[in-house]
Amino acid sequence: MNISDSEIVASILKADGYGFTEDVKSADIVFINTCSIRENAEERVRKRLQYFKSLRKKNPALLICLLGCMADRTTTALLEEEKLLDLVAGPDSYRHLPQLLAQAGTGRKAIDTILSVDETYADITPVRLDSNGVSAFISIMRGCENHCSYCVVPSTRGQERSRDVVSIVRETRDLFENGYREVTLLGQNVNSYTWEEGKGQITFADLLAQVAGVNPIMRIRFATSHPKDISDELLHTIANTPNLCKAIHLPVQSGSNHMLDLMNRKYTREDYQERIRAIRRIIPGCAISTDIIAGFCDETEDDHKDTLSLMEWVEYDAAYMFKYSERPKTLAADTLTDNVPEEVKDRRLKEIIDLQQKLSFANNQKDIGHTFGILIEGISKKSDNQYFGRNSQNKVAVFTKTQSGPGDYVNVKITGATSATLLGEVV
Ligand code: SAH
Ligand code: SF4
Repeated sequence: MNISDSEIVASILKADGYGFTEDVKSADIVFINTCSIRENAEERVRKRLQYFKSLRKKNPALLICLLGCMADRTTTALLEEEKLLDLVAGPDSYRHLPQLLAQAGTGRKAIDTILSVDETYADITPVRLDSNGVSAFISIMRGCENHCSYCVVPSTRGQERSRDVVSIVRETRDLFENGYREVTLLGQNVNSYTWEEGKGQITFADLLAQVAGVNPIMRIRFATSHPKDISDELLHTIANTPNLCKAIHLPVQSGSNHMLDLMNRKYTREDYQERIRAIRRIIPGCAISTDIIAGFCDETEDDHKDTLSLMEWVEYDAAYMFKYSERPKTLAADTLTDNVPEEVKDRRLKEIIDLQQKLSFANNQKDIGHTFGILIEGISKKSDNQYFGRNSQNKVAVFTKTQSGPGDYVNVKITGATSATLLGEVV
Protein backbone atom coordinates (compact mmCIF):
# COMPACT_ATOMS: atom_id res chain seq x y z
CA MET A 1 0.00 0.00 0.00
CA ASN A 2 2.75 2.42 0.94
CA ILE A 3 4.88 1.54 -2.08
CA SER A 4 1.88 2.27 -4.23
CA ASP A 5 1.36 5.63 -2.46
CA SER A 6 5.04 6.55 -2.84
CA GLU A 7 4.70 5.91 -6.57
CA ILE A 8 1.76 8.33 -6.73
CA VAL A 9 3.79 10.94 -4.83
CA ALA A 10 6.72 10.44 -7.22
CA SER A 11 4.41 10.98 -10.17
CA ILE A 12 2.93 14.21 -8.75
CA LEU A 13 6.41 15.59 -8.02
CA LYS A 14 7.84 14.55 -11.37
CA ALA A 15 5.02 16.41 -13.13
CA ASP A 16 6.02 19.47 -11.11
CA GLY A 17 9.64 19.29 -12.31
CA TYR A 18 11.32 17.47 -9.43
CA GLY A 19 13.96 14.81 -10.08
CA PHE A 20 14.84 11.76 -7.97
CA THR A 21 17.97 10.52 -6.36
CA GLU A 22 18.70 7.24 -4.62
CA ASP A 23 21.47 8.99 -2.69
CA VAL A 24 19.88 10.59 0.34
CA LYS A 25 23.04 12.62 1.05
CA SER A 26 22.71 14.54 -2.20
CA ALA A 27 18.96 15.23 -1.81
CA ASP A 28 17.43 18.66 -1.19
CA ILE A 29 14.18 17.14 0.01
CA VAL A 30 13.59 13.81 1.74
CA PHE A 31 10.20 12.17 2.12
CA ILE A 32 9.43 9.45 4.59
CA ASN A 33 6.22 7.58 3.87
CA THR A 34 4.91 6.16 7.11
CA CYS A 35 2.72 3.39 8.44
CA SER A 36 1.26 3.29 11.94
CA ILE A 37 -0.29 -0.16 11.84
CA ARG A 38 1.99 -1.42 14.64
CA GLU A 39 4.08 0.41 17.21
CA ASN A 40 7.48 -0.81 15.98
CA ALA A 41 6.76 0.74 12.55
CA GLU A 42 6.48 4.11 14.27
CA GLU A 43 9.69 3.59 16.20
CA ARG A 44 11.57 2.89 12.97
CA VAL A 45 10.27 6.14 11.49
CA ARG A 46 11.48 8.12 14.50
CA LYS A 47 14.97 6.65 14.14
CA ARG A 48 15.03 7.47 10.44
CA LEU A 49 13.94 11.05 11.15
CA GLN A 50 16.81 11.47 13.61
CA TYR A 51 19.16 10.36 10.84
CA PHE A 52 17.69 12.91 8.42
CA LYS A 53 18.08 15.56 11.12
CA SER A 54 21.79 14.71 11.27
CA LEU A 55 22.01 15.25 7.50
CA ARG A 56 20.44 18.68 7.95
CA LYS A 57 23.48 19.73 10.01
CA LYS A 58 25.54 19.46 6.79
CA ASN A 59 22.82 20.79 4.51
CA PRO A 60 20.70 23.34 6.42
CA ALA A 61 18.38 23.80 3.42
CA LEU A 62 17.32 20.13 3.49
CA LEU A 63 13.53 19.78 3.77
CA ILE A 64 12.32 16.80 5.79
CA CYS A 65 8.80 15.69 4.90
CA LEU A 66 6.53 13.15 6.54
CA LEU A 67 3.85 11.41 4.47
CA GLY A 68 1.22 8.77 5.16
CA CYS A 69 -0.58 7.42 8.19
CA MET A 70 1.61 8.85 10.94
CA ALA A 71 1.03 12.26 9.47
CA ASP A 72 -2.26 12.50 11.27
CA ARG A 73 -1.59 11.44 14.82
CA THR A 74 1.94 12.46 15.52
CA THR A 75 2.26 15.60 13.49
CA THR A 76 1.92 18.17 16.19
CA ALA A 77 3.96 16.32 18.76
CA LEU A 78 6.84 15.68 16.37
CA LEU A 79 6.84 19.21 15.03
CA GLU A 80 6.77 20.84 18.41
CA GLU A 81 8.93 18.52 20.44
CA GLU A 82 11.65 17.46 18.10
CA LYS A 83 11.78 20.14 15.40
CA LEU A 84 12.27 17.37 12.89
CA LEU A 85 9.81 18.17 10.18
CA ASP A 86 9.26 20.86 7.58
CA LEU A 87 6.24 19.33 5.91
CA VAL A 88 3.52 16.88 6.85
CA ALA A 89 1.03 15.47 4.33
CA GLY A 90 -1.62 12.83 5.07
CA PRO A 91 -2.58 10.05 2.63
CA ASP A 92 -5.22 12.13 0.87
CA SER A 93 -3.14 15.32 0.52
CA TYR A 94 -0.50 14.32 -2.03
CA ARG A 95 -1.92 16.48 -4.81
CA HIS A 96 -1.12 19.53 -2.66
CA LEU A 97 2.56 18.62 -2.30
CA PRO A 98 3.84 21.20 -4.84
CA GLN A 99 2.15 24.04 -2.89
CA LEU A 100 3.15 22.58 0.46
CA LEU A 101 6.78 22.30 -0.68
CA ALA A 102 6.74 25.90 -1.88
CA GLN A 103 5.53 26.97 1.56
CA ALA A 104 8.06 24.80 3.42
CA GLY A 105 10.81 26.26 1.21
CA THR A 106 10.11 29.71 2.65
CA GLY A 107 10.69 28.40 6.16
CA ARG A 108 7.01 28.12 7.12
CA LYS A 109 5.96 24.64 8.25
CA ALA A 110 3.46 23.11 5.81
CA ILE A 111 0.80 20.75 7.12
CA ASP A 112 -2.13 19.10 5.36
CA THR A 113 -3.61 16.02 6.98
CA ILE A 114 -7.24 16.37 5.94
CA LEU A 115 -8.80 13.06 4.90
CA SER A 116 -11.02 13.02 1.85
CA VAL A 117 -14.17 11.05 1.03
CA ASP A 118 -13.47 10.73 -2.69
CA GLU A 119 -9.71 11.02 -3.44
CA THR A 120 -8.51 7.92 -5.31
CA TYR A 121 -5.68 9.45 -7.42
CA ALA A 122 -7.34 7.61 -10.32
CA ASP A 123 -5.95 9.94 -12.99
CA ILE A 124 -2.35 9.76 -11.77
CA THR A 125 -0.04 7.29 -13.49
CA PRO A 126 2.39 6.18 -10.80
CA VAL A 127 6.15 6.40 -11.39
CA ARG A 128 7.38 2.87 -10.68
CA LEU A 129 9.98 3.09 -7.93
CA ASP A 130 12.47 0.35 -7.16
CA SER A 131 10.73 -1.83 -9.73
CA ASN A 132 11.92 -5.14 -11.18
CA GLY A 133 10.10 -4.20 -14.40
CA VAL A 134 8.00 -7.38 -14.12
CA SER A 135 5.55 -6.94 -11.25
CA ALA A 136 3.71 -3.83 -10.07
CA PHE A 137 1.01 -2.75 -7.61
CA ILE A 138 -2.21 -1.00 -8.53
CA SER A 139 -4.24 0.68 -5.83
CA ILE A 140 -7.95 0.04 -6.48
CA MET A 141 -9.44 1.36 -3.26
CA ARG A 142 -8.51 3.61 -0.37
CA GLY A 143 -9.55 3.70 3.28
CA CYS A 144 -11.49 1.13 5.28
CA GLU A 145 -14.70 1.09 7.28
CA ASN A 146 -14.53 -2.31 8.90
CA HIS A 147 -13.37 -1.02 12.27
CA CYS A 148 -11.65 -4.17 13.45
CA SER A 149 -11.13 -3.18 17.06
CA TYR A 150 -7.30 -3.41 17.03
CA CYS A 151 -6.80 -1.51 13.79
CA VAL A 152 -5.78 2.08 13.21
CA VAL A 153 -6.43 2.11 9.44
CA PRO A 154 -10.01 3.45 9.52
CA SER A 155 -8.79 6.44 11.54
CA THR A 156 -5.58 7.10 9.57
CA ARG A 157 -6.83 6.45 6.03
CA GLY A 158 -10.46 7.43 6.31
CA GLN A 159 -13.59 6.31 4.52
CA GLU A 160 -13.57 3.45 2.06
CA ARG A 161 -13.74 4.48 -1.60
CA SER A 162 -13.26 2.59 -4.84
CA ARG A 163 -11.37 3.83 -7.85
CA ASP A 164 -13.03 3.86 -11.25
CA VAL A 165 -12.77 0.67 -13.26
CA VAL A 166 -11.70 2.33 -16.52
CA SER A 167 -8.58 3.88 -14.99
CA ILE A 168 -7.60 0.56 -13.35
CA VAL A 169 -7.89 -1.34 -16.63
CA ARG A 170 -5.99 1.43 -18.43
CA GLU A 171 -3.16 1.31 -15.88
CA THR A 172 -2.95 -2.48 -16.26
CA ARG A 173 -2.76 -2.15 -20.06
CA ASP A 174 -0.03 0.52 -19.81
CA LEU A 175 1.97 -1.73 -17.53
CA PHE A 176 1.58 -4.68 -19.92
CA GLU A 177 2.74 -2.55 -22.84
CA ASN A 178 5.78 -1.53 -20.79
CA GLY A 179 6.82 -5.15 -20.27
CA TYR A 180 5.18 -5.87 -16.92
CA ARG A 181 3.68 -9.33 -16.54
CA GLU A 182 2.12 -9.28 -13.07
CA VAL A 183 -0.04 -6.79 -11.19
CA THR A 184 -1.32 -6.94 -7.64
CA LEU A 185 -4.57 -5.06 -7.05
CA LEU A 186 -4.51 -3.45 -3.62
CA GLY A 187 -7.18 -2.46 -1.14
CA GLN A 188 -7.84 -3.05 2.56
CA ASN A 189 -10.90 -5.13 1.72
CA VAL A 190 -10.99 -5.72 -2.02
CA ASN A 191 -14.19 -7.76 -1.81
CA SER A 192 -16.17 -4.62 -1.13
CA TYR A 193 -14.89 -2.95 -4.32
CA THR A 194 -17.84 -1.39 -6.10
CA TRP A 195 -18.21 0.98 -9.03
CA GLU A 196 -21.35 2.34 -10.70
CA GLU A 197 -21.14 2.11 -14.46
CA GLY A 198 -23.84 2.94 -17.02
CA LYS A 199 -25.46 -0.51 -17.01
CA GLY A 200 -25.07 -1.18 -13.31
CA GLN A 201 -22.81 -2.15 -10.48
CA ILE A 202 -19.26 -3.47 -11.05
CA THR A 203 -18.25 -5.93 -8.31
CA PHE A 204 -14.71 -7.01 -7.47
CA ALA A 205 -15.25 -10.23 -9.45
CA ASP A 206 -16.30 -8.11 -12.48
CA LEU A 207 -13.24 -5.91 -12.04
CA LEU A 208 -10.95 -8.95 -11.85
CA ALA A 209 -12.47 -10.37 -15.03
CA GLN A 210 -11.90 -7.06 -16.85
CA VAL A 211 -8.32 -6.67 -15.63
CA ALA A 212 -7.54 -10.31 -16.51
CA GLY A 213 -8.93 -9.61 -19.98
CA VAL A 214 -6.15 -7.10 -20.71
CA ASN A 215 -3.89 -9.96 -21.80
CA PRO A 216 -3.85 -13.67 -20.93
CA ILE A 217 -0.14 -13.59 -20.11
CA MET A 218 -0.56 -10.80 -17.55
CA ARG A 219 -0.87 -12.40 -14.12
CA ILE A 220 -3.28 -10.80 -11.67
CA ARG A 221 -3.07 -11.01 -7.88
CA PHE A 222 -4.94 -9.10 -5.19
CA ALA A 223 -4.82 -8.30 -1.50
CA THR A 224 -6.55 -8.23 0.89
CA SER A 225 -9.75 -10.25 1.14
CA HIS A 226 -11.86 -9.99 4.26
CA PRO A 227 -13.20 -13.45 5.20
CA LYS A 228 -16.67 -12.05 5.92
CA ASP A 229 -17.27 -11.18 2.29
CA ILE A 230 -15.21 -13.33 -0.03
CA SER A 231 -17.95 -14.64 -2.33
CA ASP A 232 -18.39 -17.86 -4.31
CA GLU A 233 -18.82 -15.63 -7.37
CA LEU A 234 -15.27 -14.39 -6.86
CA LEU A 235 -13.92 -17.91 -6.30
CA HIS A 236 -15.56 -19.14 -9.54
CA THR A 237 -14.11 -16.19 -11.46
CA ILE A 238 -10.62 -17.10 -10.18
CA ALA A 239 -11.12 -20.80 -10.94
CA ASN A 240 -12.27 -20.08 -14.50
CA THR A 241 -9.63 -17.51 -15.46
CA PRO A 242 -6.12 -18.95 -15.94
CA ASN A 243 -4.26 -15.67 -15.42
CA LEU A 244 -6.00 -14.91 -12.10
CA CYS A 245 -3.46 -16.33 -9.66
CA LYS A 246 -4.39 -19.32 -7.56
CA ALA A 247 -3.40 -17.77 -4.25
CA ILE A 248 -5.72 -16.20 -1.70
CA HIS A 249 -4.62 -14.16 1.28
CA LEU A 250 -7.38 -14.50 3.87
CA PRO A 251 -6.38 -12.94 7.20
CA VAL A 252 -7.92 -14.91 10.06
CA GLN A 253 -6.30 -12.97 12.98
CA SER A 254 -7.35 -15.61 15.55
CA GLY A 255 -8.86 -19.09 15.73
CA SER A 256 -10.90 -18.29 18.82
CA ASN A 257 -14.50 -17.12 18.55
CA HIS A 258 -14.12 -15.07 21.71
CA MET A 259 -11.14 -13.19 20.21
CA LEU A 260 -12.84 -12.79 16.83
CA ASP A 261 -15.80 -11.23 18.59
CA LEU A 262 -13.61 -8.84 20.62
CA MET A 263 -11.70 -8.02 17.44
CA ASN A 264 -15.00 -7.13 15.75
CA ARG A 265 -14.11 -9.31 12.76
CA LYS A 266 -17.77 -10.19 12.09
CA TYR A 267 -17.16 -13.89 11.36
CA THR A 268 -16.72 -16.99 13.50
CA ARG A 269 -14.15 -19.76 13.31
CA GLU A 270 -16.86 -21.90 11.70
CA ASP A 271 -17.70 -19.21 9.08
CA TYR A 272 -14.01 -18.99 8.27
CA GLN A 273 -13.70 -22.77 7.92
CA GLU A 274 -16.70 -22.76 5.58
CA ARG A 275 -14.92 -20.21 3.34
CA ILE A 276 -11.74 -22.33 3.35
CA ARG A 277 -13.79 -25.37 2.30
CA ALA A 278 -15.30 -23.28 -0.51
CA ILE A 279 -11.83 -22.25 -1.73
CA ARG A 280 -10.62 -25.86 -1.67
CA ARG A 281 -13.76 -27.04 -3.49
CA ILE A 282 -13.93 -24.33 -6.16
CA ILE A 283 -10.20 -23.71 -6.77
CA PRO A 284 -8.30 -26.98 -6.26
CA GLY A 285 -4.58 -26.36 -5.72
CA CYS A 286 -5.13 -22.78 -4.51
CA ALA A 287 -2.55 -21.55 -1.99
CA ILE A 288 -3.94 -19.94 1.15
CA SER A 289 -2.07 -17.46 3.33
CA THR A 290 -3.14 -15.43 6.34
CA ASP A 291 -2.41 -12.80 9.00
CA ILE A 292 -2.41 -13.71 12.69
CA ILE A 293 -2.25 -11.57 15.82
CA ALA A 294 -0.85 -13.11 19.01
CA GLY A 295 -1.78 -11.85 22.46
CA PHE A 296 -4.81 -9.69 21.80
CA CYS A 297 -6.72 -8.35 24.82
CA ASP A 298 -8.02 -11.06 27.22
CA GLU A 299 -6.47 -13.85 25.11
CA THR A 300 -6.27 -17.04 27.22
CA GLU A 301 -4.13 -20.10 26.67
CA ASP A 302 -7.21 -21.84 25.24
CA ASP A 303 -7.82 -18.99 22.78
CA HIS A 304 -4.19 -19.27 21.68
CA LYS A 305 -4.57 -23.05 21.25
CA ASP A 306 -7.62 -22.40 19.08
CA THR A 307 -5.39 -20.34 16.79
CA LEU A 308 -2.79 -23.11 16.59
CA SER A 309 -5.42 -25.75 15.89
CA LEU A 310 -7.05 -23.67 13.16
CA MET A 311 -3.64 -23.15 11.53
CA GLU A 312 -3.15 -26.92 11.48
CA TRP A 313 -6.65 -27.44 10.11
CA VAL A 314 -6.16 -24.96 7.25
CA GLU A 315 -2.53 -25.96 6.58
CA TYR A 316 -1.61 -22.44 5.53
CA ASP A 317 1.04 -22.03 2.86
CA ALA A 318 2.30 -18.79 4.40
CA ALA A 319 1.43 -16.30 7.14
CA TYR A 320 2.27 -12.82 8.40
CA MET A 321 2.34 -13.10 12.17
CA PHE A 322 2.26 -10.21 14.63
CA LYS A 323 2.29 -9.52 18.32
CA TYR A 324 -0.67 -7.35 19.31
CA SER A 325 0.31 -3.73 19.80
CA GLU A 326 -2.27 -1.30 21.08
CA ARG A 327 -2.90 1.65 18.76
CA PRO A 328 -4.37 4.95 19.90
CA LYS A 329 -7.88 5.89 18.75
CA THR A 330 -8.92 2.28 18.10
CA LEU A 331 -11.94 0.54 19.59
CA ALA A 332 -9.64 -1.81 21.52
CA ALA A 333 -7.63 1.05 23.01
CA ASP A 334 -10.85 2.76 24.10
CA THR A 335 -12.81 -0.21 25.41
CA LEU A 336 -10.47 -3.17 26.15
CA THR A 337 -7.34 -3.73 28.24
CA ASP A 338 -4.02 -4.74 26.67
CA ASN A 339 -3.57 -7.29 29.45
CA VAL A 340 -1.52 -10.17 28.00
CA PRO A 341 2.00 -9.84 29.47
CA GLU A 342 4.74 -9.10 26.95
CA GLU A 343 6.59 -12.36 27.60
CA VAL A 344 3.39 -14.36 27.06
CA LYS A 345 2.78 -12.51 23.76
CA ASP A 346 6.36 -13.30 22.73
CA ARG A 347 6.05 -16.96 23.57
CA ARG A 348 2.69 -17.34 21.79
CA LEU A 349 4.01 -15.53 18.72
CA LYS A 350 7.01 -17.84 18.66
CA GLU A 351 4.76 -20.92 18.85
CA ILE A 352 2.70 -19.55 15.96
CA ILE A 353 5.81 -18.81 13.86
CA ASP A 354 7.32 -22.24 14.59
CA LEU A 355 4.11 -23.98 13.62
CA GLN A 356 3.80 -21.96 10.41
CA GLN A 357 7.34 -22.87 9.45
CA LYS A 358 6.46 -26.53 9.81
CA LEU A 359 3.29 -26.09 7.75
CA SER A 360 5.08 -24.12 5.00
CA PHE A 361 7.82 -26.74 4.86
CA ALA A 362 5.31 -29.62 4.64
CA ASN A 363 3.30 -27.81 1.92
CA ASN A 364 6.43 -27.05 -0.09
CA GLN A 365 7.59 -30.66 0.16
CA LYS A 366 4.31 -31.70 -1.48
CA ASP A 367 5.30 -29.60 -4.53
CA ILE A 368 8.38 -31.72 -5.21
CA GLY A 369 7.96 -33.57 -8.50
CA HIS A 370 5.36 -31.07 -9.79
CA THR A 371 5.99 -28.68 -12.66
CA PHE A 372 4.85 -25.04 -12.40
CA GLY A 373 4.71 -22.11 -14.80
CA ILE A 374 7.12 -19.63 -13.24
CA LEU A 375 7.27 -15.94 -14.11
CA ILE A 376 10.96 -14.96 -13.89
CA GLU A 377 11.49 -11.87 -11.73
CA GLY A 378 15.27 -11.60 -11.61
CA ILE A 379 18.61 -13.04 -10.58
CA SER A 380 18.65 -14.98 -7.32
CA LYS A 381 20.31 -13.19 -4.39
CA LYS A 382 22.32 -16.29 -3.58
CA SER A 383 23.80 -17.04 -7.00
CA ASP A 384 24.36 -15.16 -10.26
CA ASN A 385 23.77 -18.42 -12.12
CA GLN A 386 20.23 -18.73 -10.87
CA TYR A 387 16.94 -16.96 -11.50
CA PHE A 388 14.09 -16.59 -9.09
CA GLY A 389 10.42 -16.21 -9.90
CA ARG A 390 6.98 -17.18 -8.64
CA ASN A 391 4.35 -19.70 -9.51
CA SER A 392 0.65 -18.87 -9.64
CA GLN A 393 0.41 -19.91 -5.96
CA ASN A 394 2.84 -17.08 -5.10
CA LYS A 395 5.63 -19.43 -4.05
CA VAL A 396 9.17 -18.37 -4.87
CA ALA A 397 11.14 -20.83 -7.00
CA VAL A 398 14.90 -20.73 -7.67
CA PHE A 399 16.43 -22.50 -10.67
CA THR A 400 19.47 -22.48 -12.96
CA LYS A 401 19.44 -19.70 -15.56
CA THR A 402 18.38 -20.46 -19.10
CA GLN A 403 18.16 -18.24 -22.16
CA SER A 404 14.90 -16.79 -20.93
CA GLY A 405 15.01 -13.66 -18.80
CA PRO A 406 12.97 -11.54 -16.37
CA GLY A 407 9.39 -11.18 -17.60
CA ASP A 408 9.44 -14.57 -19.38
CA TYR A 409 7.52 -17.66 -18.30
CA VAL A 410 9.31 -20.98 -17.91
CA ASN A 411 8.14 -24.40 -16.77
CA VAL A 412 10.08 -25.47 -13.71
CA LYS A 413 10.05 -28.97 -12.24
CA ILE A 414 10.47 -28.82 -8.47
CA THR A 415 13.26 -31.01 -7.14
CA GLY A 416 13.64 -29.73 -3.58
CA ALA A 417 12.15 -27.24 -1.10
CA THR A 418 12.78 -25.35 2.12
CA SER A 419 10.03 -23.69 4.18
CA ALA A 420 10.50 -20.49 2.15
CA THR A 421 11.63 -21.53 -1.34
CA LEU A 422 11.07 -24.14 -4.03
CA LEU A 423 14.15 -25.35 -5.88
CA GLY A 424 13.92 -26.75 -9.40
CA GLU A 425 15.06 -26.99 -13.00
CA VAL A 426 13.60 -25.63 -16.20
CA VAL A 427 11.99 -28.43 -18.25
N1 SAH B 1 -7.00 -4.87 5.64
C1 SAH B 1 -6.29 -6.03 5.85
C2 SAH B 1 -5.09 -5.91 6.74
C3 SAH B 1 -4.42 -4.63 6.96
S1 SAH B 1 -3.25 -4.51 8.22
C4 SAH B 1 -7.21 -7.05 6.48
O1 SAH B 1 -8.15 -6.73 7.15
O2 SAH B 1 -6.93 -8.20 6.30
C5 SAH B 1 -2.28 -5.96 8.04
C6 SAH B 1 -2.28 -6.81 9.26
O3 SAH B 1 -1.66 -6.15 10.34
C7 SAH B 1 -3.65 -7.21 9.81
O4 SAH B 1 -4.25 -8.24 9.10
C8 SAH B 1 -3.31 -7.62 11.23
O5 SAH B 1 -2.94 -8.98 11.30
C9 SAH B 1 -2.09 -6.76 11.55
N2 SAH B 1 -2.44 -5.71 12.52
C10 SAH B 1 -3.28 -4.66 12.34
N3 SAH B 1 -3.37 -3.92 13.47
C11 SAH B 1 -2.55 -4.53 14.38
C12 SAH B 1 -2.21 -4.25 15.74
N4 SAH B 1 -2.74 -3.22 16.39
N5 SAH B 1 -1.34 -5.09 16.37
C13 SAH B 1 -0.80 -6.14 15.72
N6 SAH B 1 -1.09 -6.45 14.44
C14 SAH B 1 -1.96 -5.66 13.78
FE1 SF4 C 1 -7.88 -2.78 9.57
FE2 SF4 C 1 -9.90 -4.50 9.64
FE3 SF4 C 1 -9.86 -2.54 7.81
FE4 SF4 C 1 -8.14 -4.57 7.63
S1 SF4 C 1 -10.37 -4.70 7.46
S2 SF4 C 1 -7.67 -2.39 7.39
S3 SF4 C 1 -7.69 -5.01 9.75
S4 SF4 C 1 -10.05 -2.29 10.00
